[in-house]
Amino acid sequence: MLFPNYPIINTHCHILNFAFVPNKMFKILSRIDENIVTKGSIQDIAEAIVKVIPGVKFDHIAEVLRIYSDNNIKKAAEWYVKQMKEAGIIIATPLMMDLESCFEANAIKPDENYIPYYCYSKDESQPSQINQISKIAAKYPWQIFPFIMFDPRRKSAVEICKFALENQGFLGIKLYPPLGYFPVPTVRQSDKINNALEEMYDYCGKERIPITVHCSTAGAYAQVNPDWEDIWEKTAPFQWLETIRKYELKVNFAHFGGKYIKHPLDQKTKKSLEWHLNIQTIMGSAYRMNIIGDKESVFADISYHSLAHNRKLQDEYFQDLKELLSNKYSQTQVIFGSDASMISHTWSEIEVLQPFLSYLNENEQERLFYQNPAKFLFENGEIPSRYINFIKKKIAKSLEENSLPDWIIKQGDKFQLKKLAHSNSALN
Ligand SMILES: [Zn+2]
Repeated sequence: MLFPNYPIINTHCHILNFAFVPNKMFKILSRIDENIVTKGSIQDIAEAIVKVIPGVKFDHIAEVLRIYSDNNIKKAAEWYVKQMKEAGIIIATPLMMDLESCFEANAIKPDENYIPYYCYSKDESQPSQINQISKIAAKYPWQIFPFIMFDPRRKSAVEICKFALENQGFLGIKLYPPLGYFPVPTVRQSDKINNALEEMYDYCGKERIPITVHCSTAGAYAQVNPDWEDIWEKTAPFQWLETIRKYELKVNFAHFGGKYIKHPLDQKTKKSLEWHLNIQTIMGSAYRMNIIGDKESVFADISYHSLAHNRKLQDEYFQDLKELLSNKYSQTQVIFGSDASMISHTWSEIEVLQPFLSYLNENEQERLFYQNPAKFLFENGEIPSRYINFIKKKIAKSLEENSLPDWIIKQGDKFQLKKLAHSNSALN
C-alpha cells in the first residue's frame, strides 16, 4: 500500500444513508426490490448486489450497507472521516442530493422511512437532510465543507440555497441536470425555472460560489424507462459556455464526462468521450479568450474514474491524465474527487488513491490533489467569511489559533489555506 506525501482535498464525495433516498428513486436506480432492503438481512442484500454489479467486493458492500441502513448520519460521517484520515485527505466536500424535486408532489409516501431534504416549517427540531448535514459541518470544522444541492424546480430553491451558504456551513452548490431540467436558461423550459437559474447564478457569480454540475453518462435519473437522448441533452457541457461567461461562474464538470475509454466504443462511452473533449474545449476557450478576466472559471473532477483501476485501460487513462495535468489549458483545472460513498462498494479512500500514487509524479500529484482543488473551492486560498461566521456561531473555540489544523493559517482576521511548503506555484 502506498501513502500520499501531500495533503489531499477531495472535491467530490457523499455522506448519506437510505433515509436520504426516496423509495421511488431507489426502485428506479437499484434494480433491486425495495422489500429486500427493508426486510432482508445485510447478508441477503450484499449478495444480491454482488450479483448485479460486477467487480463489487462483498466485504466492502456489506460495510456500506451497514452504514446506510443504520440511518444515523453522524455514524456515516464518522465512518467517512476515518477513511479520510487513513488516506491523508484533509478536506472533503460532501455533495448533497435532492432526489425529491424531480418527482410530482406527494410522490413520497408518509409511511416510508424518509427524511425530507428541506423542512419548510422552519422548525429546527424537525429533521431535514440539510439540517443534519449542517450539523456534520459544525462537527468537523475546516475538514467537511458540504455543497448544497440546487434544483431550480423546488419551491424557494434560491432562498434555501442562499440561507445554507450564508448560515449553515455550506461552501458551494451542486446541480444534477439528468434529474430532468436544463441547468442554464433556455426557451425549452418554463420562465419559473429559468428565473430561478438566473437568480442563483447572479448570486454565485458575485460571491464566487463554487458550482459542481454532474457531467457523466452514468448516475441518477428520474425516469423508469430512461429517454437517454433527453437526459444527455440536459447534461451536455457545451450549453454552459454563455452562462459561465455572462455570470462569471466557477464551474466544476463532475466526472469529466464519465467513463470515456472502452474498446470498441459503445454508445454511452462515445457520449462520455464527446463530453470529455468538450470540457477540454471549454477550458481552452476560457484560457484563450480569458472570458472572465483573471478569475478561474472551468474545472473538471475525476470522481468515479474506475478506469484508473482497470488493468487493461489504466495505461491509456493515465497517459491522458498526465497530458491534461501538463498542458497549459488544463493543468490547473483538473481536480481530485473520489465519489465516496458511491464507490465504497469496491474501494475505500486509500484504495482509490493507489493507482494515482504510482502513476503520477510529484508535480502532477500536487496539482491534482491540492493546488487545483484549493483553487476551485477557495477563492485566492481564502476561507470565505460566511463559513467563518458559521463556525464562530457554532464552535467559536475552533477559531482560536491553537485549535486550527495544520492546513489553516490565520492572518489578521482572515483564514487562509496553507500553501504547500515545497510548492513553487502560489495557490492563485
Ligand atoms: Zn457523486
